[in-house]
Amino acid sequence: MMRDAVTCDREDCLAVFLEPLGLPEGRTTEDAAREAGWEHGEAGHTCPGCVAGRGPVLERGECERCLGATVDRTTPDQGEANVCHYCGRVAPYPPGSGEW
Ligand SMILES: [Zn+2]
Ligand SMILES: [Zn+2]
Repeated sequence: MMRDAVTCDREDCLAVFLEPLGLPEGRTTEDAAREAGWEHGEAGHTCPGCVAGRGPVLERGECERCLGATVDRTTPDQGEANVCHYCGRVAPYPPGSGEW
């Protein structure tokens, strides 16, 4: 199956939003991207990192929201997590991998 994708139209930005797995019928990748913080205007798509002024994404990584590079960091509220450099998405490690 081909996964749909939305890319950031800002110059030099490598951000990509991949179609979420298990997207419910009737919902588009576009909808999911908007919910994740992507904006869609006359100039095209803008990734959450660029919207927040933290873009463009220059290095790809594992961020589910923009495919930007992430760093391991201890966050005050969620413990050890993967934090996106660009959009700031915090992805806590799965339960069982740490002290949980
Ligand atoms: Zn961008
Ligand atoms: Zn991100």
